[in-house]
Amino acid sequence: MTSRAKDFEELLARVRAFTQDTLIPAERQVEADHAIPEPIVQEMRDIGLFGLTIPTKYGGSGLTMEQQVLTTMEFTQASAVYRARFSTTLGLGSQAILHNATEEQRERYLPRLASGEMTASFALTEPAAGSDAGNVQTRADRDGDAYILNGEKRYITNAPEADLFVVMARTDPETEGHRGVSAFLVEAGTPGLRIGEPDLKLGQHGSNTSEMYFEECRVEADMLVGHTEGIGFKCAMDGINVARMHVAATCVGQAMRLIDEALTYAVDRKQFDQPIADFQAIQMMLADSRAEMLAARAMTLETARRIDAGERPLGDMSCCKYFGSEMVSRVADRAVQILGGAGYLANHDVERLFRDARLFRIYEGTSQIHQFIIAREMIRGAQNSADA
Ligand SMILES: Cc1cc2nc3c(=O)[nH]c(=O)nc-3n(C[C@H](O)[C@H](O)[C@H](O)COP(=O)(O)OP(=O)(O)OC[C@H]3O[C@@H](n4cnc5c(N)ncnc54)[C@H](O)[C@@H]3O)c2cc1C
Repeated sequence: MTSRAKDFEELLARVRAFTQDTLIPAERQVEADHAIPEPIVQEMRDIGLFGLTIPTKYGGSGLTMEQQVLTTMEFTQASAVYRARFSTTLGLGSQAILHNATEEQRERYLPRLASGEMTASFALTEPAAGSDAGNVQTRADRDGDAYILNGEKRYITNAPEADLFVVMARTDPETEGHRGVSAFLVEAGTPGLRIGEPDLKLGQHGSNTSEMYFEECRVEADMLVGHTEGIGFKCAMDGINVARMHVAATCVGQAMRLIDEALTYAVDRKQFDQPIADFQAIQMMLADSRAEMLAARAMTLETARRIDAGERPLGDMSCCKYFGSEMVSRVADRAVQILGGAGYLANHDVERLFRDARLFRIYEGTSQIHQFIIAREMIRGAQNSADA
């Protein structure tokens, strides 16, 4: 085993122990308090979870995509809320900077993001720009050596906790769609930036989202990502592509946990003088859940390896996110069914995991948007073959 492979095995073992010994036991407290205890966030920093996607040159772990998804499948066997605390730094926050910022911007922010000293948040979604992400209305108007931002964002994960926002704003009002959109680095506390109250949500309590308001918010021109206008959508896609693979891996981790909960209950619970696990109807639900989880796991790992080999398989990345998120919803629904009344009551973890799972089909592209991307890539491939 090479020393890098050995380092990775040690990281995985540490993450596994942290998940089982610390994260899972604290889940109910996180749900009740709507907050992750600070000592747990600190341990996440110490383990290096904020820097999993950042190269070692900037203080991160420098993991391959395959290693990133394998690590994610471990810590997401605990509540997905923990992952949400650093997911915006791993994906949309850091990757926009890594791939598009100037070297000075990278050196200023990436080491602090990798260490977890700073939390990044990604602000794209607006009232009129959801799935239609190119329809950004927030304006950034040039004023001397600065831009003046005005507009509103919503559903922004970690907005209350973030130190740095990567904000999508329209610099060219004459150009419709994503081509007139640029990316800005905006630090928390910048005058003219106001963060709303945390939203009330169906699940994932403890992972905060909120609205953001830009009111004559003055941002130095130096904070335009890459000092280049019009590359906002590319910045967004660099982050979203990583985030989609991580969500796919998260769905696998959550499904593993749900299957474990359902199996443990089915073996223990007796009705008609026998464990309910002896009933074929229960066995079929367990079997379907395991088979679908393994399919999502294999698809995600295979696609991660292709990304590591230099490919950019957009359609198949969408397959991972689409299939994984639909899969974990089915697995969560079956887990509730296997537990019967206990699965519906809030004193069992399955009730919370069921609610948490619903989000995966909505953010980082809804299932319908991923179906569209998958088909679009298939059709493009067919047309290119016909033209060749
Ligand atoms: C908890 C949470 C956290 C989030 N975190 C962030 C964040 O950190 N940063 C950020 O920028 N955003 C964030 N989002 C926003 C998220 O990415 C959007 O909610 C998502 O992209 C969908 O947009 P929308 O909610 O406006 O739904 P809409 O786009 O209005 O979609 C409504 C329905 O219409 C369907 N639909 C839309 N267009 C089409 C089409 N062309 N074809 C077929 N069906 C279509 C959708 O699939 C969906 O079923 C978050 C959202 C949530 C709920």
